[in-house]
Amino acid sequence: MNFWGFNISETRSINYDTNDKDMLIHVLQEVPSCKLCIECGGCTAGCTAGRLTSFNIRKLQMFMKRGENKEIREELHKCMLCGKCILVCPRGVDTRKMILSMMKYIKNNQK
Ligand code: SF4
Ligand code: SF4
Repeated sequence: MNFWGFNISETRSINYDTNDKDMLIHVLQEVPSCKLCIECGGCTAGCTAGRLTSFNIRKLQMFMKRGENKEIREELHKCMLCGKCILVCPRGVDTRKMILSMMKYIKNNQK
């Protein structure tokens, strides 16, 4: 709907109970250090792919925790696997391994 040049955003709700958490379970098993993330955004700030594209690794982690895997499928290929994000993480999260684990899950669960 359009009112005097303004649009009303569609209602958006996240159902944590019914969203698909299989990817999260898979990644946490392979990369337990993901549990230590405090969502500071350091990985995103220094990300090589983020400088060139809309890629946002912190956002993808949040999507995974919420079980919103569609967005991850569409974005993950932009990562260059350079490993810079591991160097800046204050919590020692193995972000590169996490990305590889996400990729593996997506490859094995093509829908
Ligand atoms: S830098 Fe580490 S703690 Fe911060 S958001 Fe990225 S993975 Fe999480
Ligand atoms: S490995 Fe990390 S820093 Fe490098 S492109 Fe991927 S998310 Fe960005």
